[in-house]
Amino acid sequence: MEKRIAVYPGSFDPITYGHVDVIRRSLKIFDKVIVAVLDNENKSPLFTAEERIGMIKNVVKGMPVEVETFSGLLVDYMKKKKTHTVIRGLRAMSDFEHEFQMATVNKFMDDDIETIFVMTDKKYFYLSSRLAKELAKLGGPVSEFVPKPVEDKLKVKFGKK
Ligand code: ADP
Repeated sequence: MEKRIAVYPGSFDPITYGHVDVIRRSLKIFDKVIVAVLDNENKSPLFTAEERIGMIKNVVKGMPVEVETFSGLLVDYMKKKKTHTVIRGLRAMSDFEHEFQMATVNKFMDDDIETIFVMTDKKYFYLSSRLAKELAKLGGPVSEFVPKPVEDKLKVKFGKK
């Protein structure tokens, strides 16, 4: 039988437990998830694409997950990977409008694309990469929000270690 593969695109600057939960839940439905890290300097990421990929690979070790960068239109990347399903996470309230727009425009550009929304555990409803970065910058506790290798990298970035 053909493998069911989904693409989970995002900035992952850096990966949080919210993202990890989305990946775990997606793997209950799909045989493999491709985490596609957006390489977009316009977003002024804290971590380079290579650093973000390194952290994700570290965290998903042993899972059927592929990690790579992409730039440009997601629909073009999907064609290249010969997959049709996009995974996105939904948090409490804030994500809906933006995600609805993205899914609609992707469907407009390529009718074969389906976007699936995955929720996280309620512990992560309000968690974002931005929150983890702000906390880390102020020397706050981030171990509840990001895996250990990410916590270590954040501390180094902000000179807290
Ligand atoms: P982007 O810049 O594309 O929004 P992110 O890395 O911030 O990239 O997020 C990638 C996807 O993961 C988005 O669909 C986002 O809504 C989702 N996501 C991020 N954090 C969480 C979380 N705590 N719970 C559920 N979904 C999340």
